[in-house]
Amino acid sequence: MRIAYNGFYQMRIEFLGGVRTVTGSATLLEKGSSKWLVDCGMFQGGKELEERNWDIQPYHAKELSLILLTHAHIDHSGLIPKLVKEGFRGKVICTKATLDLCEVMLQDSGHIQEMEAGWQNRKSKRSGGKEAAPLYTSEEAKRSLQYFQPVRYDEMLSLTDGIKVRFQDAGHILGSAIIELWVEEEGQEKKLVFSGDLGGPDQPIVRDPSWVEEGDVLWLESTYGNRLHKSREETVGELLEIIQDAICDQAKVVIPAFAVERTQDIIYTIGQLIRKGSIPTIPVYIDSPLAISATEIFKRNSDCFDQDTKNILLRGENPFEIPGIIYTQTTEESKAINEDSRPGIIISSSGMCDTGRIKHHLKHHLWRETSHIVFVGYQGEGTIGRRIVDGAKSVRLFGEEIVIKAHIHTLGGFSAHADQKGLLGWLSHLKNPELEVFVNHGEEKISMELGQLIREHFHLKTTIPQWREKRGLFSSKEIVMPERAVLEEGRKEISTSSETLSRLFMNLDKNYKRLRRKLRNLRPRREEVEDPRLLGPLEEINKKLEELESKL
Ligand SMILES: [Zn+2]
Ligand SMILES: [Zn+2]
Repeated sequence: MRIAYNGFYQMRIEFLGGVRTVTGSATLLEKGSSKWLVDCGMFQGGKELEERNWDIQPYHAKELSLILLTHAHIDHSGLIPKLVKEGFRGKVICTKATLDLCEVMLQDSGHIQEMEAGWQNRKSKRSGGKEAAPLYTSEEAKRSLQYFQPVRYDEMLSLTDGIKVRFQDAGHILGSAIIELWVEEEGQEKKLVFSGDLGGPDQPIVRDPSWVEEGDVLWLESTYGNRLHKSREETVGELLEIIQDAICDQAKVVIPAFAVERTQDIIYTIGQLIRKGSIPTIPVYIDSPLAISATEIFKRNSDCFDQDTKNILLRGENPFEIPGIIYTQTTEESKAINEDSRPGIIISSSGMCDTGRIKHHLKHHLWRETSHIVFVGYQGEGTIGRRIVDGAKSVRLFGEEIVIKAHIHTLGGFSAHADQKGLLGWLSHLKNPELEVFVNHGEEKISMELGQLIREHFHLKTTIPQWREKRGLFSSKEIVMPERAVLEEGRKEISTSSETLSRLFMNLDKNYKRLRRKLRNLRPRREEVEDPRLLGPLEEINKKLEELESKL
C-alpha cells in the first residue's frame, strides 16, 4: 500500500542516529516532498547498534536532495556510500578539507567492510552458513565522492528547496563544521544550528570553535557533557612522564589513536617535546596507512590551521615531520616494529581498538608489565578500548585471551571534543531565550546530565531525542498533520495520517500493558477474574482485536 500526501506542510524531523549514543549521527529533515539529511554516520560499537547500518530504508536514499556533512569522521559520514549505492543522487555539501579526508576515510571504511565480509564468509563456509556481502566496497566508496561539493567556511549558500546554509569552524578536526541552516516556516525564516562535534578551546592545529549567536533550534553534541578535561598543559606533562618512564624501562608506549586529528595532534605534541629537549630522539612509529594519508591532507590544508601552527610553518618547520618519526605503510614494516627493542612510541589505529593494526600491538604489549598503553580519545561502549579503560583483567584478541599487565593511562586532555565547561560556554553565546535544544551525540546518561544542566543554567527547552523519533520542528505539540492521506489503490480517501496512527499504537501498547499488569495481579483471586462484569468486557476486547487483525 502506498500513501501519498497532500495539503500544507510543516517541517518535520526524524532522529536517525547519534541520539543516546555517540555513533551513527544523522537527522532527516522533511518538508513536503523535500528531504535533506544532516550527517549520515555509521553506527559502531557492538552488533546490536551495527545492525542499524543495514536497514537504511528510513534514510530515503532516492528522495534525498541534500546531505549536509559536518565533518569526515565515519560516525558522521560512513553511510554515504551505502546511500549512493541505494540510489542517492543529490549533493553532499561539506568543506574542502572534509572532502579531502572523506576521500581516504570512506575508501578505507569500504576496505574494512570488504575485509569483514571476507572474514565472515570464511567462517560461514566452514559452518555451511549464508554468504555475507559488505555494507559497501572501497570502489563504491570512491564512486560516492562524485556527489560531494565543497564549500568555504563562512560562505552563505542558497540551495535547492529555498534553504540557505553556512558552515562555520567547529574546531574539532580539520575541516569540521558547525552547520547553520535557514528554512522558511509559515512565512517566517527560522534558523537551525547543528553543532556537529565541537572542539575544545586550546586544541592544537585547528582553530577554536566559532561562536553562534542566533538560532531557533540547536542540535548540541554531548560526548563529554558530564566531564571536565584536564588542561592541555597538565596533559602534556602526564604524557611526558609516561614517555620518560618508558625510556627508563627500555619499554614502549602504545597509543591507540584515531587516524585523523588525534594522530596528527600527538605527532605535533611529541615533536614539541623533542624540539624542546624534554625527551631525546626516540623512534616514533606511525603505524596506520590511513593516518599517513591523513597527515598528507593536513599538510595540503594549512589554511585551516590555527595561528600557533601557522607560526611553526612560517619558521620553516614542519609540525608533522619530527626527528625519529617512522611512517610504516606495509604489513612487513608494521611487523618489523615488534623486532625493534629500543624504547619508543607506537601510534596506531583504530582509536577504539576494534579494527586495524593497533590490535596486533595490543597483543604484543598488553601482557608486558613495562609497556604503557595510553588512551587519548573517546572509547565507545562495547569496544575493546572501553573494556581495557574500564579495568578488564584480560581481553580477547585474534581468538586468544591476552592478560592485561601493562600500565593503562587515559589522557582526556587530548580529546578533540569540548568538555562540559566548553559545551556550556559555547552555548552561552546563543542568546535566544526561546531556543530549543536537542542534546545528541552522547551516551544516554551523559546527554541527560547535560540536558538537565542546560535547563538549570539557561532555562531553555531541552530534549534528549529517541532513536527514530519523528516530530514537527516548530511546534511543541505532538504533531498531528493537517494533511490528508490519499490511498492510491482504488483512489479511496482515508482520513488518517501516519502520526495519528503511531500515537494510537503507542496508546494501545500502553493500555494493553497496564491491563495485563492488573489482570496478572488478580489471577490468584479466581473469583474476581471470573466476575461477569470483567469477563464480558474482556471477551469483547478479544473479539475486537481478532476482528481488526482479520481486516489487516
Ligand atoms: Zn568527530
Ligand atoms: Zn562524532
